Amino acid sequence: MADPNCIFCKIVAGELPARIVDEDERTISFMDIAPATRGHALVIPRVHSTDLLSVEPEDLSAVALAAARLAARAKARLGADGVNLLNACGAAAWQTVFHFHVHVIPRYGGDPLRLPWVPSDGDPQEIDAAAQELGRR
Ligand code: AMP
Ligand code: ZN
Repeated sequence: MADPNCIFCKIVAGELPARIVDEDERTISFMDIAPATRGHALVIPRVHSTDLLSVEPEDLSAVALAAARLAARAKARLGADGVNLLNACGAAAWQTVFHFHVHVIPRYGGDPLRLPWVPSDGDPQEIDAAAQELGRR
């Protein structure tokens, strides 16, 4: 269940300190130690899984519900104007802790965060080709 080398498993076990803001049967939510904005929290399943592609569906659902709870609190209690949910799946996608987690990042008008890509029109043929490969088979 727990990975002895995983810092988030250690938080679940109470072996590492964390500022916990929400808990239920399947999840724990705690403050990120390097917050992107005020109130930045992480939601994790209690049971270790590496990433989005290996987490059990019931844990994924529970994490999504907990993230939505925190998003609502960020707006109601911190005065956030919006919220970003972020999951990094794989090192190429910026994942640094390999215990599945969702970032709940409160957003404030005028905060310094920026989109990590520059929106520009894509090549329609390239979009179609990718869609062909991505579509249900
Ligand atoms: P990611 O890069 O998506 O894997 O996110 C990992 C996040 O975990 C980063 O935002 C870190 O700041 C955060 N983090 C790492 N160690 C801890 C810790 N002990 N307590 C709280 N947050 C942590
Ligand atoms: Zn873990």
